[in-house]
Amino acid sequence: MSEWQAVIGLEIHAQLATESKIFSAAPTAFGAEANTQVNELCAGHPGSLPVLNRRAVELAVRAGFALDCDVQALSIFDRKNYFYPDLPKGYQISQLNYPICLGGHVDYDVDGQPQRTRLERIHMEEDAGKSQHEGEDPHSHIDLNRAGTPLIEIVTHPEIHTPEAAAAFFRAVREVLVCVGANDGRLAEGSLRCDANVSVRPAGSEVLNTRTEIKNLNSFRFVRDAVRHEIDRQIALIESGGSVVQQTRLWDETRNETRVMRTKEGEADYRYFPDPDLPPVLLDAAWLESVRASLPELPAARRARYRADYELSAADAAAIVDRSGFATVFEAAIAAGCAPRQAAIWVNGELASAINDELLAWRDSDNVFVSSRGVEIDGPSLAALQGLVDDDTVSIGTARRVLRRMIESGLSAAAVVDADGLRQVDDSGQIEAAVRAVIEANPDEVAAFRGGRKQLIGFFIGQVMRATKGRAKPDTVRRLVIEALAGDAG
Ligand code: ADP
Ligand code: MG
Repeated sequence: MSEWQAVIGLEIHAQLATESKIFSAAPTAFGAEANTQVNELCAGHPGSLPVLNRRAVELAVRAGFALDCDVQALSIFDRKNYFYPDLPKGYQISQLNYPICLGGHVDYDVDGQPQRTRLERIHMEEDAGKSQHEGEDPHSHIDLNRAGTPLIEIVTHPEIHTPEAAAAFFRAVREVLVCVGANDGRLAEGSLRCDANVSVRPAGSEVLNTRTEIKNLNSFRFVRDAVRHEIDRQIALIESGGSVVQQTRLWDETRNETRVMRTKEGEADYRYFPDPDLPPVLLDAAWLESVRASLPELPAARRARYRADYELSAADAAAIVDRSGFATVFEAAIAAGCAPRQAAIWVNGELASAINDELLAWRDSDNVFVSSRGVEIDGPSLAALQGLVDDDTVSIGTARRVLRRMIESGLSAAAVVDADGLRQVDDSGQIEAAVRAVIEANPDEVAAFRGGRKQLIGFFIGQVMRATKGRAKPDTVRRLVIEALAGDAG
């Protein structure tokens, strides 16, 4: 055991998936040319007035309910004043004392161990623009496309204690936000970013020591690595007689270290006050209830349901819930009559491998997997395939090949079986002939088998299956091979 305990609190900034900005109709499209997604409000022109985007509020409320928060009937927007070139108004509109959500928590697993981290709050705010400093150019450039983008900031209690847990928490939050449509989950596009507050204390102590805050971590790995390095840095600093200074730091992923960015402002420096241009937000109880009722089943609940109702392993349930489209196809296959365990084997086995081989990809708009040539594979088509196994039309091994042929040809499972002549043969006469031929062709193996090498049974079965192009019913082959080898000896 280490004699130090790390204390970590996270602040996650999540862009709300709206088409327009939080206080104006300017668009939020990603990747547009600089300063094209901008109107007079984004540019801070005097006299322009903010109007709250209803959809942004709805998405924040969805996120709040999904994270088990107390969604507030009353919340208030404040001005957070600071001067920076990417903030033309000279203040950011945020929420200080009356945020849209209080409390809440997130359940997640770290190395198979369940953990819960409680939330302090979720508040709404607008994003700032971006400063760009390029190469030799002595000028700084400002891109205001992001200015006014709606965000929620999700703030945890300082009760996470390992870098791995911090990353797992961030991942779990992303999963929930994406599931309820509040956020698009695109970390690389800056839609979701995490600030990590880190301090250390002697193990067993309850004090909250001076912390540093590492800004703008936009991948799970960066969260883990940056927090790990910052913990090590603070411990080394204290053990060598120094002390931690409250600072904002940046993670340098190429040099694997955190670097100081600025010493941190206190709340007083921001001179918060309620924004006089925006009335308090009052949310109607019936509307809140309708938003809550419209939430989909969350991933954690779905995993638990699959384990309880379908007796799937934790790994199988997670593999289905965590991959786009799998749960849809899995449930549709069950609805079409496939046994849940078989449906799980199909999606996590052959479907996953076809996706892995880039034969299929999920098409969200139609709730279906499609090949590059437009062949669609859905739940009912897997159920029909399993149906051919269930009624002994094909063996499971043949069925796997049939799925590949369905993807290539666009034919149904039954049509592939007919076209390729794959119908299972359970005609003893036909199989017996194949067994006899294999025994005659392999006298050495027959002698060895009779001499005691009983494991050669697999060899004979394999030869017969090959001779019948995989169509012979394996149980029948096994029975006839055993009979033939025993019978001829007697
Ligand atoms: P600020 O608004 O200055 O960022 P807050 O008090 O709102 O500060 O805290 C922000 C985050 O810092 C929260 O997630 C909180 O859990 C975390 N935090 C607060 N104190 C500590 C500490 N001593 N060590 C680690 N994290 C902390
Ligand atoms: Mg902060």
